[in-house]
Formats: sequence, C-alpha cells, structure tokens
Amino acid sequence: MRAIVLDADGQPVLSDMPEPDGSGALARVLACGLCGSDVEKLDAAHAGSVLGHEVVAQLDDGRRVALVHHVPCGECARCLAGHESTCERFSASTIRPGGFAERVHADAWLDIPETWPDWRGTMVEPLACVLRGAGRVPRGRVLVVGNGFVGRLFGLVLERRGDEVFAVDADPRRNGRAPDGPVDAVVLSGGGGVMAALEAVAPGGTLLVFADAGEIPATEVYRHELTVAGARSATPAFMREAVALLHDLDVPEPTVLPLARFGEGLELFRRRDALKVVFTP
Ligand SMILES: [Zn+2]
Ligand SMILES: [Zn+2]
Repeated sequence: MRAIVLDADGQPVLSDMPEPDGSGALARVLACGLCGSDVEKLDAAHAGSVLGHEVVAQLDDGRRVALVHHVPCGECARCLAGHESTCERFSASTIRPGGFAERVHADAWLDIPETWPDWRGTMVEPLACVLRGAGRVPRGRVLVVGNGFVGRLFGLVLERRGDEVFAVDADPRRNGRAPDGPVDAVVLSGGGGVMAALEAVAPGGTLLVFADAGEIPATEVYRHELTVAGARSATPAFMREAVALLHDLDVPEPTVLPLARFGEGLELFRRRDALKVVFTP
C-alpha cells in the first residue's frame, strides 16, 4: 500500500510499504488531518514512521468511523485524577502504522453521521482535545493566543458555553478580536505567546498551556498568583462528546488534498496559507 513514510532525516516521502497486520481491525483510510503535532515530529528521531492521528476510515462492514487514537486504562491513579494522557497505557498508538496511509490497523473507533463529509470526521480528534482543555479554563473573559485551527476551535467551544472570547496571533493575518482589558484566562494554543498571555491575564487568572509554549516565568506566576494548567490530547469520552457537538459547530472548512500531494499541503500549513489541511489516500 502507499503511505507517507518519514525518511532518515524525518522528511515525508510517498512510499510503498507492506499492508498492516497484527491485532485490531483493518480499516481503509478515507481522510486524515494534518496536526501541528505531526509537523513537530518531522525529524530524524521519527525516521521510518507514518504519522497521522485525525483519521476517518471505513471498516470491513462498510461503517464509516472516526478512529480513536489513544486509549487510557481508566483505572490507574493518573486516569482517576483526570490526567489520562499521562497514563502509561496512553502512549501506545491504536492506529498502526499511522493515518497517512491507505490502510491501517485500528483498535478503537466511533461511528460518525452519514451526512458528514469525510473531512468533518477528521475534526473529531482535535475538537475532543479542545473540549478536554476547555474544561480546565474558568468561565469569563478568555484570550486565545495562537489563532490557527485549534485556536478557532477553542473560540467556538468557549463562545458556545458563554465566555467572552478574544484571539490574537503572531501572524497578523490570523488576528481576531484583541482583548479590551484584563482577561480571566488565557489559552496558549500556538507556539510561544507567553508574553502576550502574561500581559493580558488579570491577577489570579489562569493560563491553559495547550502547546509547547516555551518558558513561563515563575516570578510572574508567583507575583500575580496565577494558576497554570496543562492539557494535551483527548480521551475516548471527549471524542464521543466531540462527535455530538461537531454536528452543528460552524468549523472552518479545511484544504483537502490527495496523499500524493502531501509535501504541497505541508508547505501550505507551514506558510500558514491553509488553516487546516486534510489528506485523502
Ligand atoms: Zn491532532
Ligand atoms: Zn491509566
């Protein structure tokens, strides 16, 4: 089958590789979204791997499903404390070899509505990550720093629950409504942005770190009595919630390209000319 395999330098190359086998169900990939976390993995350390975890696939029985990327054990102390993404079981991928391939072996999935285009189903995973993160953001006035695709999802989710949402981005093309005064919470959804967050957050406010944002000065956290919370990835429960919510959420439509044009889609994403890119085998 064809897949995008990372070469020795971690660069994506359309390659032929053996069909996946082993445990799980064989599924035909219909679409897979490119995530910022995939782009971070394009390095020599990931040579030989196939990325892609925002997958819509068809099972043998014809059902179209969104694949569940990670499954926590649900019983350990980490899981019970609500930090499922740090569960030891969590890191094992349940999609093999990865979504940027014609076929995968999968362990877990959720049915998606028949009326959805394939690309909408690829948004179940990122939306689930955002829903889980949003649960750690206090209600009120919230600034989203980094207004790419994930930042927009945060905006939609927070507005829906009644927050007043502002959004800024280092790229002026992506700026949203700038905050008109101190905010109760800041979501760091893109790389960097710590300084913008510290300038905007009111004393006693919350920073949700949803991306590798770099260093946060402890002095500021101390002086202003800030709360810093982290959130990474999703759980099956939030994926179920995402399927229900995506039904009538006005998400931005992605750029859809065939897998053979992966390099082109990657460049669109890197140049920030596309908010979201989805590939179809
Ligand atoms: Zn993702
Ligand atoms: Zn666990």
